[in-house]
Amino acid sequence: MVKYGFSYFGNRIPKYVKKDLLDFKKIGFEIVLHTFSENDFLFYKDTMKRIVSDSKELGYEVWLDPWGYGGIFGGEAFSGFLQNNIEESQISNKEERLGSVCLNSEKFRNYMKEWIKSCKAIGADKIFWDEPHFYIFEPYNRYPEEFSCRCDTCKKNFYKIFNYEMPTKFNEDIKTYRNIVINDFLKEMTNFAKGLGIDNIICFVPEEAYETGINNYEQISSLKTISNIGSDPYWYGWNKNVQEFVGKSCNEIKSLSIKYNKDSHMWIQSFKVPEGRENEIEDAVIKIKESGIENILFWGIRGCEHISSISSDNPEKVWNIITQIIKKDKN
Ligand SMILES: [Zn+2]
Repeated sequence: MVKYGFSYFGNRIPKYVKKDLLDFKKIGFEIVLHTFSENDFLFYKDTMKRIVSDSKELGYEVWLDPWGYGGIFGGEAFSGFLQNNIEESQISNKEERLGSVCLNSEKFRNYMKEWIKSCKAIGADKIFWDEPHFYIFEPYNRYPEEFSCRCDTCKKNFYKIFNYEMPTKFNEDIKTYRNIVINDFLKEMTNFAKGLGIDNIICFVPEEAYETGINNYEQISSLKTISNIGSDPYWYGWNKNVQEFVGKSCNEIKSLSIKYNKDSHMWIQSFKVPEGRENEIEDAVIKIKESGIENILFWGIRGCEHISSISSDNPEKVWNIITQIIKKDKN
């Protein structure tokens, strides 16, 4: 039986969160992903503890997301760490300081471990590693003409591995190097979490987008520390055909999940849904169910009407469609 879930953010007032959670429970949702950004970590820890506790009490499976953390995860959230530790940022091949931390930064890795410990302290047992990536250049065609990270640590590490100085022009070794770094980072973080008894769930950017630094899903999917793998093929955003784009992601994830004996999940775009195309959400659900993926999640609630930068054109219609799909499935 498929489990349905949603992401929840933008409200840190426990009594209203609880009201929402109750309403969504009645629809048939079973998983709630709470974003747990640097802002939440610093200013809302006990509030989040209450929110997690209420979620569990209502019977939800709870996932926590390092939303926008260090500028290396997905999410509409800023990094306070970077603001206070600008010297830990990624550096481009054009010597530009970038708005994401270097994945090799010891100081950041320690800061991330403090966050993992606080996930445990507030009662969560599942972490959702949300689209881990190197700095993404905008507009998108700047990569690989421009790439990161060419900070002093990375230059030293690159030399140790390849025995020549890190070039300023992109080549295959840089691609390999970035993949090594992001794998090493995720291995260390998921291992630390696992040591605290926390399950690790990972969500890959679709289409093996090399700009993230991850060259293939397989290496990370094979990690023993990871129990659930997935992706978020947001077809409206990528301007793709729903069946093809979602179908391709489902096939990739499902085959890896079988090969490495992992649970799997898939996200459905429920933000920035264009007027008149709301029904494609149902096409996506059908595609995912056909693939045998066990967990279907919606980003986010009520068509994201509460976050104007990514709200759907007709959020109410989006939410009605989602609600009907789940009610039909669960009854
Ligand atoms: Zn670096």
